[in-house]
Amino acid sequence: MCGRLDNYLLSFSKLRVDRNRKSWPKHTNHCSPYKPFLLLSVIDHISSGRITTTFIEPSFELLETFGQYISLLPDFNRPASMSYPFYHLDTSGFWELVPQPGQIHQKSLSISSMKRLREVYLGARISKDLFMLLQMAHSREKLQTVLIDTYFSPQFQKTVHEQSLINQASDTYSFSLMEHPATADLPIPAEHFAREREQIRSQGFRRAVINLYQHRCALCGIKMLTPEGHTVVDAAHIKPWSESKNDNPTNGMALCKLCHWSFDNGLMSVDRQFKVLVSVATKKDPNLPGHILTLSERHMFRPSQSRYWPSQDNFEWHRWERFR
Ligand SMILES: [Zn+2]
Repeated sequence: MCGRLDNYLLSFSKLRVDRNRKSWPKHTNHCSPYKPFLLLSVIDHISSGRITTTFIEPSFELLETFGQYISLLPDFNRPASMSYPFYHLDTSGFWELVPQPGQIHQKSLSISSMKRLREVYLGARISKDLFMLLQMAHSREKLQTVLIDTYFSPQFQKTVHEQSLINQASDTYSFSLMEHPATADLPIPAEHFAREREQIRSQGFRRAVINLYQHRCALCGIKMLTPEGHTVVDAAHIKPWSESKNDNPTNGMALCKLCHWSFDNGLMSVDRQFKVLVSVATKKDPNLPGHILTLSERHMFRPSQSRYWPSQDNFEWHRWERFR
């Protein structure tokens, strides 16, 4: 297994990446960061248990983790579709693309969007021995470190390492929220500092809630998810975190930007039968509340399992303290 680890350490340090001082920032040693960021995202998801087989699906969660790494780069305005590295890692020898039924894999296709990638491919399969190495903490850390040390400047390496810690811990937190939807005071790993704890918490809460509502707004029912993984919904607390310190899914809902703002400002709430309440204040001059008025008395959208439904205690707090 040691020999194999050495081979993969070498492969990871010699990825075919574009190198150009004009195109890529100093933080990435003037190399394209897409392949390293995709591999780091896959490593985070294997570490947290989100990826459990050799098959790598271009999932919303993987897109989000990849996007979190990209957002670390200051003033980076280039298009950053995960489709580029997902398709081009095929040349690495350990990443085999899996075509959709009826499609065949072809080299040198022009794949520049997730929509196009999904039309042709179901995902990719990494080699079995690489998957085994990535399941073991010792070899996983070595493979991760070689990526970070090779493709990022010494000043930037700590930032990438920290993001990886946050990604893994927030996924673990998200799983514990799903397992214990109504348990108070869920522990966040103590070894993380205050700033990281905040990110771990909010990222883990967001992932659990958005997943439970399948990207659908609980109050108006809209769902809009772009192929690149941008979703219209936020994960909203019913009783705000600042007052409740409660990240349980029973204190959360996925809400679109308009419903989130309206709920937080007391213009919408939910009654004891889980029907949407719209405040009379929405109609006051000079408001033009449009379709919000049509939501009144409609049942809200809830997760399929009742143990994840919002608790009426939290809605009661909202009706008393916020609803106008
Ligand atoms: Zn909405």
